[in-house]
Amino acid sequence: MASLITIPARQGKAITLRRGQHIKVINTHGQQVIDTWAFNRADLTECLSMEHSRASLSRIIARVGDSMVTNHRRPILTIVEDTSPGIHDTLIAACDRYRYELLGCTTHHDNCTDNLVAGMAALGLTPPKTPSPWNLFMNIPVQAVGGLSIRQAIECPSRGAPLVVLGAPLVIDADEFKPAAGATLRDVLSEICRQIRRTNQTTR
Ligand SMILES: [Zn+2]
Repeated sequence: MASLITIPARQGKAITLRRGQHIKVINTHGQQVIDTWAFNRADLTECLSMEHSRASLSRIIARVGDSMVTNHRRPILTIVEDTSPGIHDTLIAACDRYRYELLGCTTHHDNCTDNLVAGMAALGLTPPKTPSPWNLFMNIPVQAVGGLSIRQAIECPSRGAPLVVLGAPLVIDADEFKPAAGATLRDVLSEICRQIRRTNQTTR
């Protein structure tokens, strides 16, 4: 049963996804960056890892059908659908109180690192650290000489709110992950993507 959760400005939300479930991340106003984390609920030290995902993908930006992996190199989120321009940064750290202090804030300023803690606290969980986030919709072009230009959010498309559909933790809930005889991990992932797409079409 699909439910809509609105993330208030400058806040965060955490939810539990089970294997085979998916989440649709809608960028309502088109230009908001969404810092995204995923943890193995049974062992919070295993989490979505940008550095392991880049190594797994041999790219710095995942495409539809790609799976992001954990620090244990297991797929945890797959991009099933993407109606945005498809730019989701994997390089930039989450904002935190220290960043805002450097910017001159002398009082508390909401930030993604604290939002992660608060969001998980609502589920009774405490993240053991702040992993590097997956910055959905964030555009950080990498220049040929290795420089980065920080452009924040993607350009807003002219029609509709861009969205990304992320497939649920694919192996995390499994007691033991074994592809069917003869099937590769890629076969399993694309079958799950197909099933999610089918569910999506019937629930729209
Ligand atoms: Zn932030």
